[in-house]
Amino acid sequence: MTKAQMIIKDAERILKTEHGTTLKEASGSALCAAVARATLLAVGDDWAKSREKLEKGRRAAYISAEFLTGRAICNNLNSLGLLEEVQKLLSARGADVNKLEDEEDSALGNGGLGRLAACFLDSAAALDLPLGGYGLKYRYGLFKQTVVGNEQVEVPDDWTALSDNWTIRRDEDSVIVELSDGNIRAVPYDMPVIGYGTRNVGTLRLWQTESLKEFDFALFNDYRYEEACANKNKAEDIVKVLYPNDWNIEGKRLRLKQEYVLSSASLQDLLRCYEKMHKSYRALPDYAAVQLNDTHPVLAIPELIRLLTKKGVSFNTACTYAGKMFAFTNHTVMPEALEKWDMALVKSVNEEIAAILKRLNRRSLRETGLSLIKDGMIHMADLAVYMSFAVNGVAKIHSELVKTSLFPAWYRLYPERFHNKTNGVTQRRWLSLCNKELCGVLASHTDKDFVKDLSVLGQIKPTKQLAKELAGVKQIKKKQLSKYLKHFFSADIPESFVFDIQVKRLHEYKRQLMNALSIYDLYLDVKAGKLKDLPPVAFLFGGKAAPGYARAKAVIRYINELSCLINADPDVKDKMRVMFVPNYNCSLAEKLIPAADFSEQISPAGTEASGTGNMKFMINGAVTIGTWDGANIEIAQAAGEENEFIFGARLEEIEKIKDSYDTKAIYESDEHVRRAVDSLTDAGFADEDGALSELKTSLLEGASWHSADHYYVLKDFASYREARLKAYETYAKNKAAFDMMCLKNTLSSGLFSSDRTIKQYAEEIWKI
Ligand SMILES: *Cc1c(COP(=O)(O)O)cnc(C)c1O
Repeated sequence: MTKAQMIIKDAERILKTEHGTTLKEASGSALCAAVARATLLAVGDDWAKSREKLEKGRRAAYISAEFLTGRAICNNLNSLGLLEEVQKLLSARGADVNKLEDEEDSALGNGGLGRLAACFLDSAAALDLPLGGYGLKYRYGLFKQTVVGNEQVEVPDDWTALSDNWTIRRDEDSVIVELSDGNIRAVPYDMPVIGYGTRNVGTLRLWQTESLKEFDFALFNDYRYEEACANKNKAEDIVKVLYPNDWNIEGKRLRLKQEYVLSSASLQDLLRCYEKMHKSYRALPDYAAVQLNDTHPVLAIPELIRLLTKKGVSFNTACTYAGKMFAFTNHTVMPEALEKWDMALVKSVNEEIAAILKRLNRRSLRETGLSLIKDGMIHMADLAVYMSFAVNGVAKIHSELVKTSLFPAWYRLYPERFHNKTNGVTQRRWLSLCNKELCGVLASHTDKDFVKDLSVLGQIKPTKQLAKELAGVKQIKKKQLSKYLKHFFSADIPESFVFDIQVKRLHEYKRQLMNALSIYDLYLDVKAGKLKDLPPVAFLFGGKAAPGYARAKAVIRYINELSCLINADPDVKDKMRVMFVPNYNCSLAEKLIPAADFSEQISPAGTEASGTGNMKFMINGAVTIGTWDGANIEIAQAAGEENEFIFGARLEEIEKIKDSYDTKAIYESDEHVRRAVDSLTDAGFADEDGALSELKTSLLEGASWHSADHYYVLKDFASYREARLKAYETYAKNKAAFDMMCLKNTLSSGLFSSDRTIKQYAEEIWKI
């Protein structure tokens, strides 16, 4: 029996015994559950062996508050090389393979940072590298976004109830986490990370918090039902949601508890493995490197020191060990995203940790003259840089900014610590799984396995013939997307239009507003009968706004209002369409990105640390309309600047103008800017709460916490218009040239595989 046949047979038995149904009759969720469990059985042996190997040698641990793993079934079967065979066998038995799409995304993350963590685990597994992931098993993932009356409405994402088919509870590896208001148990749930083209299976270990004292029988007997469950609820609340609202002190405490539980449980786990093989702690720094993904897990540093000193290691020795084990990745230059915690709050979570932080602060002052605690707040990034042997940014430009503008004093002290590791994405999910048509064409032009090694694409000759074949694939993907959008959203996005796509979290710095305002400006021209040569363009958006982020939500409203206006206007609807696709997540990304002609990457220079969406688009042969920012720069350099449409002020220019930036002058002098900005208040869009009008104010006047137009929408507006008109004109007038641009992007995307990134971490930082 082949492995795929085994999986089918096991799935059949699971359906019969656990769901009382058959492959043919099973609901989507039952079919997903059964195929997932059967696949787990199929990898069980390899997983156990890989785990044993991981625990023995030197390894790296990747601790992250987020892992945006998306759907697993098809990806895992694809990694096993069994996807097509399993699909065929399922169909042959009368099962509807489309039901595999009913699997919920596991959205234990927010956006790029969490998706990066998932890509890294995939790459490490494929490369046989000993890397384990540590995260939290949030009860609810990030909210699901619906759009009601043009507004974002959040609904809970109950992923564990519907699609928690891949985690295995490991009670025997539970640990106790000490909290000032009562200790709790952290129970690990392991998720397999199946390596492509190898028998190696990595592990993502997710911690669930539970009470030590589930239930007070005496209280319950005494009719005090709520009190009887109080402990249970308090412990379970810790991992109830990702990024709990932290506007008040209780919310802040909850977040800090999450971070501490993640840090403490993960390090206890590492130490437990180490202690199985060693009597003294002397070899600990040789045993593991610990990568801190942003500041959320940085409490792991004092926690390691705390755990070691409890075991009899001296404070100084513990600090030395920590300094050899931790490495830190910075993901943003936005000052508001650099975490700081009130020391009193830290103390209320764990007193010993607060004491260790004070001691580390004194040590830093003595050694470096720099303090980690300022005005009673512990600065997590400073702590991380002080105590890590390596600090990295995530694209070249960003890593320079990390040295020169974020941590210049630390850089002067420890220049050798600072690295660049340009992000990447896994071609397993972002090419092989989401675009098998493109894979088919590429495979007919090389005998090498680009799913294993993306850089071999660079050896394929960019011929006109191949460019044409890729354009054919693009048309197929556009048709599929168009059908999907019609089926699920009753949207009419004709496949004959140019697809111009901006999908990513909603944030002012990502400038979805600039895109939308520019669309309004084009709309007025088209309506007035100008821009006769413009090909029909569909502008697609997707992205969630943080629930408390009023301006981001106002941008969603504006885009939806624009969509209503334009799609219904008989004068323009044959030339333009606008759509906001709700609930952008991994699975939607897998449908949208392969269908894009143009990829919108338009943050002001110096604000997007790297971006990874830009890389997914590039692999799938979209042309970037983008600024000289983040990894866009390296993308343009790899593909050739002539194969992207680069616009906007560069970092040097922004530095120069920023103190005298005059938005009113631009508004007064540029007719396009003025009419676009005025549409926020004058286009007749619904704005009862004044949110759109506030957007206009933010562009022209600013607000107490930000200067006017903090992200240079007005400054870059004219060059953006010019770039996109040139882009559409190239598409319309010289399609062959445009197709060649797409091809050059795909063929030079090898650099942006997370395999490359992970090799660099492994060789240059982790030494594994
Ligand atoms: C890749 C990805 C992101 C990151 O996109 P950026 O454009 O780099 O911000 C966010 N969300 C999802 C679902 C993704 O797949």
